Amino acid sequence: MTPLNADLHCHSTISDGTLTPEALAARAKAHGVELWALTDHDEIGGQQRALAAAQEVGLQYLSGVEISVTFIHQTVHIVGLGFDPQDPVLRRGLVQTRGGRGQRAMAMSAQLAKVGIQGAYEGALKYAGNHDLISRTHFARFLVERGVCRDTNEVFRKYLTEGKPGFVEHRWASLKDALSWIKGAGGVAVLAHPARYKFSANEEFALFTEFKSHGGEGVEVVTGSHSAAEYLSYADTAREFGLAASRGSDFHSPDESHTELGTLPPLPAQLTPVWELLADRIQNRPHPIPAALAAIGH
Ligand code: AMP
Ligand code: MN
Ligand code: MN
Ligand code: MN
Repeated sequence: MTPLNADLHCHSTISDGTLTPEALAARAKAHGVELWALTDHDEIGGQQRALAAAQEVGLQYLSGVEISVTFIHQTVHIVGLGFDPQDPVLRRGLVQTRGGRGQRAMAMSAQLAKVGIQGAYEGALKYAGNHDLISRTHFARFLVERGVCRDTNEVFRKYLTEGKPGFVEHRWASLKDALSWIKGAGGVAVLAHPARYKFSANEEFALFTEFKSHGGEGVEVVTGSHSAAEYLSYADTAREFGLAASRGSDFHSPDESHTELGTLPPLPAQLTPVWELLADRIQNRPHPIPAALAAIGH
C-alpha cells in the first residue's frame, strides 16, 4: 500500500509565507498531498480559510500551528496539530507569544541602521501580510530588495543569526507552556526539525526528555530542513523516545523554498505516523469503506 502523502508543515501570508491559505491548498493538491496542515508561526488566524480551501479542493485537513519556544537560550519550534482552534487558553498563549515581535523588529531595525541599512522596519513591514507577525523572514526579503544580499539565505547568514548585526535575542514561550496549550486544546505536540538546532548532545537529550515529560508525542523526521542521513538518525531518536513521526515540507514560498509541498520521501520504516494518533481529528476525511463491503470489492 502506498503511504499517505501527508504534508503537515507550511506557512502562508498569515505568517512568513508568500502564498495565501487558498493558494497553498491548491498547490498542495496539485503536488499530490492527501492530508495537509497549515502551520503558521504563533498564529492560527488562517485556520478557517485553510480548512475551507482544503474542503474546496478535496484535501484531508488537520489544524496546525508552529509555536516559537525558548529552550536553553535557543529558539525551538513546536508544531501543534489537530487542536481546537477556538480554545481560549491556546489563543491567549499565542497572542502573548507573538506580542514581543513588534518591539524585536524595531530593535533589529535600529541595529541594522548602525551598519548603514536604513528603514528596515518599514521595509520589512511592507512584506508582512499580518503586521502582528513581523518576522526575520520579512527583513530578509527587504534586504534582498535593497540589493544588500542576493537571496534570503545569505541575509540570514550575514545579518540575522546569532552574532550578526541584525540579530536580537528574544524570549519566546516556555516549552512547558507551549505543550500545555496544544494538549489543553486537544492537539498533539510535535518537535519541529530537530537537526536545525545547535545543541550539544547533552542539551539535545535534555530537549527530547523534557519535551516527552511535558506530554510531547511526535517529532519531525522527514522535513525540508533535514538531510537524508538526518531522516534516519531522527527516526532512531523517535524510536528511542517512543515518539510518533511527522513529515512536512516547511514550504514558505515558490521563490525561496527548496522543498516543494508533498514531494518529500515517505517516513522510514517502523515508525508510528503522527497522523495515526490524530485519526479522529482529521477533517474532510472520506468515509471509510465498511470492512464487509471492502471484502466483496465495493
Ligand atoms: P522569526 O520567527 O522571526 O525568528 O523567523 C524565523 C523564520 O526565519 C523561520 O521560520 C524561517 O522561515 C526563517 N529562517 C530561519 N533561518 C533561516 C535561514 N538560514 N535561511 C532562510 N530562512 C531562515
Ligand atoms: Mn518561517
Ligand atoms: Mn521552524
Ligand atoms: Mn516552519
